[in-house]
Amino acid sequence: MELVVATRNAGKLKEIRRLLEAQGIVVLGLDQFPELPDVEEDGDTFAANATKKAEEVARATGLPCLADDSGLTVAALDGRPGVYSARFSGEEATDCSNNRKLLVEMASVPENERQAAFCCVMALCLPGQPTRLFEGRVEGHLLKQLQGDGGFGYDPLFWLSEFNCTMAELPLDVKNRISHRGQALRQIVEFLT
Ligand code: IMP
Repeated sequence: MELVVATRNAGKLKEIRRLLEAQGIVVLGLDQFPELPDVEEDGDTFAANATKKAEEVARATGLPCLADDSGLTVAALDGRPGVYSARFSGEEATDCSNNRKLLVEMASVPENERQAAFCCVMALCLPGQPTRLFEGRVEGHLLKQLQGDGGFGYDPLFWLSEFNCTMAELPLDVKNRISHRGQALRQIVEFLT
């Protein structure tokens, strides 16, 4: 089976490809469809954005499509950055500038109020079928400085007490096993196989 994964994020594509290709699913990235315009992520929930991306890319390519929307929600920031995680520090945001902004906003938040969660909603759009949603969530705690250089995004600030390290210090296969995206993907693999 061929499946288009509607993301231009190389880190995510690598994680998704590793899990799905192990099941014999051929994963095509958006780089193989350079003519496709970007889908604007203008929904106010992860589910709305994932559904819109999966349906638009499936329509444009005629192929089954998987799209995800994911991000970090921080209790002390009333759930922000949420759907704005990628653009937290502005239109030209990088992982580095986003982490810097998060550190600044969290500077005065005490240790016992630094809970955060990575959330992921994946939408699977198969021709002629209603779009299906799959969700995953991982709980953690925000550090006051970056630690580790694996992963991407907010991983170096996201402390996992059960592993005694940050998400950026986990080997990729362990991250895939426990992560929000890993949880949602495994439900998809189960559904597809
Ligand atoms: P999306 O591409 O619109 O889903 O934006 C997701 C954003 O949330 C990314 O750019 C990261 O900033 C953040 N994010 C999502 N998943 C992860 C993860 O596994 N680790 C670190 N940051 C993540």
